[in-house]
Amino acid sequence: MTLYTGETILTPSTQLFATVNLDAIAHNIGVMQRFAGDTQIMAVVKADAYGHGAIEVSKTALAAGAVELGCATYEEAMQLRNAGIVDAPILFWMWGPSTPVEEALRANLMIAVAAEWQLDAVLAAVKNTGISASLTIKLDTGMGRSGFTSHQWNTLLPRLCEAEASGMVHIRGLMAHFSSADELGNPVTDRQAEGLRVAIDHGRRAGLRLDHNHHANTAALLTHGGMGFELARPGLGIYGISPMPELGDLDLVPALTWSAAVTLTKPFPAGAGVSYNHDWHAPADTVTAIVPCGYADGIDRRLTNQLEVTINGKRFPEVGRISMDQIVVNLGDDGGGVSQGDEAFLFGDGSRGELTALDWANLIGTIPYEVICAVGGRTTRRYEHRPVTPTRASSSAEAHPAGPAGLRKLSTVEDTLQLGRELAAQLRAGDVVVLDGALGAGKTVLARGISEGLGVQGRVTSPTFVIARSHRPGTPGGVGMVHVDAYRLLDGMEDDPNAGEALLDELDALDLDTELTDSVVVVEWGGGVVERLVERSLVVTLARSPGSDKRHATWRWVDDPYRELP
Ligand SMILES: *Cc1c(COP(=O)(O)O)cnc(C)c1O
Repeated sequence: MTLYTGETILTPSTQLFATVNLDAIAHNIGVMQRFAGDTQIMAVVKADAYGHGAIEVSKTALAAGAVELGCATYEEAMQLRNAGIVDAPILFWMWGPSTPVEEALRANLMIAVAAEWQLDAVLAAVKNTGISASLTIKLDTGMGRSGFTSHQWNTLLPRLCEAEASGMVHIRGLMAHFSSADELGNPVTDRQAEGLRVAIDHGRRAGLRLDHNHHANTAALLTHGGMGFELARPGLGIYGISPMPELGDLDLVPALTWSAAVTLTKPFPAGAGVSYNHDWHAPADTVTAIVPCGYADGIDRRLTNQLEVTINGKRFPEVGRISMDQIVVNLGDDGGGVSQGDEAFLFGDGSRGELTALDWANLIGTIPYEVICAVGGRTTRRYEHRPVTPTRASSSAEAHPAGPAGLRKLSTVEDTLQLGRELAAQLRAGDVVVLDGALGAGKTVLARGISEGLGVQGRVTSPTFVIARSHRPGTPGGVGMVHVDAYRLLDGMEDDPNAGEALLDELDALDLDTELTDSVVVVEWGGGVVERLVERSLVVTLARSPGSDKRHATWRWVDDPYRELP
């Protein structure tokens, strides 16, 4: 029997595209870096960068500040080296007995070792090539997949120290992976991190330097920051998707848009059935369109009759069974102004009204990772540099002289007060703080913390029975604070485009003790209304985790997000 290797990719299409916005990738690296603080970023680009194209994504990520690249397989790592990414450290961690370790050494790839046989294989390859190996030791701190237990690590240490002393290997650091970092407040995450810290400590005391350790994935970065490790390994966040939608808008911009050119439109009579087994019948005379993308290209067939496709800014329902090569869209009786060749958006960043990969995942009860990785078949990938949309344009690191975005678990009232005091340090006269969140979420307590941090006079109480209270500066020439109840001020005006003006007019009309421009204005609720008035505002969202009484806050600076909108 003979085995031979063939092509693994279907012939690319001239009508079905995955368009990857490299500006979004760069932007998202910046967002991840803000969460990471002093910890550096290893961009995880496995699985062809989650379907985004590993070579271009890697180059963009490195240019945007990532310092290393993380791959699952040797082949992925090798592809990057062969593409001319010669300087960046590249690590791979999923390899087997058939992996050509000698080639990996020649290509100066870093190897993760998760089992003793792998160490043996590396040492043999080092002997054969005379090239010393750069190793990361993979520990199982609680993921329950590959890696050494802490006991095995301690047992292995003498051997590793010997190999390091002989110059055959350099142990750069330790890595481990979190099992439950996307569950806010799950103590397993802290326990795992502590496990890695203890192991690093043991290793260092045995004489290893271990100066490139990493544990965090995207979810851990979002909820725990860099955790004091030298590196973090975000994947999904780089592609602009949050693994924890319950944290709200974190300023991530999805980088991948999947779209296809409409093949044809046709009148479709009432009562007629569409596609296999006539899962859908036209309730009235209508017009349908064919979109050339099917399950062979990565649309999950379970999305049948649930999808919506966006064409020329309008959403149209997909109808009838999803086929191998195509879907059918109901345009309605007037045909929706759609003609052949129009671009039909399957999913993207939502800026054209289209669904997102997260929406798709929610429709069929999976995770967005699976949705983006499934894009393939005959899809042709292409790249663009499209500035991130205005509402999100706030987040490049330079645009934030005021301070980073963040997330904080709030277990006690004191936690909330303390967060307010810390945020106050970022504020100056003329700034607006928008406190968003349900009644009882802790907005007034946070406002009190801010007032304490600013050092203004008077005690902050709920503004519910007045429209606004002003607090004079605590020191002459200092900053004051105006505490506003936007629920009352803007009652019924939520969707009114003039609500922001109305708010300022109302505030001006009030006889406040301090000038607005000399104060920090803290507005309870008013999200989407107040930001459009001011150069920049700090938006703080207070929320409860679903299914528990755990609270958390997220915050981010928004720079006049509506300036460029019509
Ligand atoms: C995939 C992967 C990551 C990245 O995880 P995200 O959830 O996408 O951030 C990090 N580390 C390892 C070992 C991985 O396999």
